Amino acid sequence: LSDGLQSAFKSLSGKGKLTEGNMRDGLKIVEQSLLEADVSYSVVQDFMGHVSEKALGKRVLLSLRPQEELVRIVYDELVETLGPVDSALNLKADGPTVIMLCGLQGSGKTTTCGKLTKLLQEQDITPLLVAADLQRPAAIEQLKVIGSQLGVPVHAETDHKDPVKVCQAGVEMARRDGNRVVILDTAGRLAIDAELMAELKKIDRKVGPDQVYLVVDGMTGQDAVNSAGAFNDALELDGVVMTKLDGDARGGALLSVKEVTGVPIKFMGTGEHFDALEPFRPEGMASRILQMGDMVAAAREAHRIVDEEEREELEAKMASGEFSLDDFKNMMQKVAQPGLMGRMMGLMPGMGQFKEAMESEAAGGQLRQIIGAINSMTPAERKNPKLIDATRRTRIAKGAGVQSPVITQLIKQFDVMKPMMQAMSGKGSGDRMAMMRQ
Ligand code: GDP
Ligand code: MG
Repeated sequence: LSDGLQSAFKSLSGKGKLTEGNMRDGLKIVEQSLLEADVSYSVVQDFMGHVSEKALGKRVLLSLRPQEELVRIVYDELVETLGPVDSALNLKADGPTVIMLCGLQGSGKTTTCGKLTKLLQEQDITPLLVAADLQRPAAIEQLKVIGSQLGVPVHAETDHKDPVKVCQAGVEMARRDGNRVVILDTAGRLAIDAELMAELKKIDRKVGPDQVYLVVDGMTGQDAVNSAGAFNDALELDGVVMTKLDGDARGGALLSVKEVTGVPIKFMGTGEHFDALEPFRPEGMASRILQMGDMVAAAREAHRIVDEEEREELEAKMASGEFSLDDFKNMMQKVAQPGLMGRMMGLMPGMGQFKEAMESEAAGGQLRQIIGAINSMTPAERKNPKLIDATRRTRIAKGAGVQSPVITQLIKQFDVMKPMMQAMSGKGSGDRMAMMRQ
């Protein structure tokens, strides 16, 4: 094999299907990545089992390495697991909608009260906040400050310790004053304890909130799975708000919490200010958790360009030996999309030597030359380049505005490439592997 071909084969990546063998390393990398993102161990195990089951036997796009294909599958699975997108507060048409926030101490409940208030105010809704955290006197004060900053009423009672009564009175007040939303800011604890759960259950039962959201600190990592599980057992959760995602935490806790609770992730807190609340988007989060953004992007891009149908058509053509200069041209045109040249070269064995040229500044010109030359050929010539003798070559070169050696070079290249393409797409990976060992 010529140098050009050999180097092309080195970068050649498509290896047919995902197998246990070629997935092993990739799965290890993905697993490591999830654990580093603080997804809890048991959730990682379940997730990986799921992914490998899904991936096994999947075909690998010629332009991708099995690991890239695998990462793409993992990413899609992550997006699906983290989803659906649902940041609706589900406000009732009549009477106040009661939203109860619960979570460990310091998770961001009180701050989230302020953020939700801001969000509602943007829709011209003035919520009433209820200071139901009677554990610490400072908590009531904190909510009052938020209320006055944002200009919304806060219901607080300092003379007793019964949060149920406070919440009931708050809802009553909202009903009387016509506030469409009531937000209950409940107490937390540093860790799960029975007393807290009993208190929250009692509020849930007696006040009957319409929406119960678990507020989780995005930086808690491995512990998130346990606390979320405990809240989920005690209460019927409707959603999760994950806070503190503005730091460098990779947010793996989200996956754990989602797996444990099964309820939608509603919002992400991305800062201490009231406007730092974003509707949850699984795509961005999946990339962040996985931190293989480049690989995912490349793999998705490759899939976008060579979609399934086209690929099958192309492979069928290659296998049947019908691969023509027209098909070659189509491929070149696809490859001509900005930024993809280098990556997509793996799709075209034998094209290694063109790679640099195509990535250079002259790339566009080179490519236009090739495409122009093929355009100047008759359909018969495109199908069977052997027809192209010296006379035809001169005609084509003239038509394309290039020197005739360009045409000679192009046909030579195509001749070398064609059997490769056929072998590559050949049934059974045996052929293909044999080709690659040469
Ligand atoms: P609570 O005990 O659950 O009510 O938690 P707080 O609302 O009092 O928040 C605890 C701390 O976390 C405060 O210092 C908040 O400013 C901070 N905090 C809350 N949400 C976020 C967030 O999304 N990003 C950052 N960086 N800090 C947050
Ligand atoms: Mg609080």
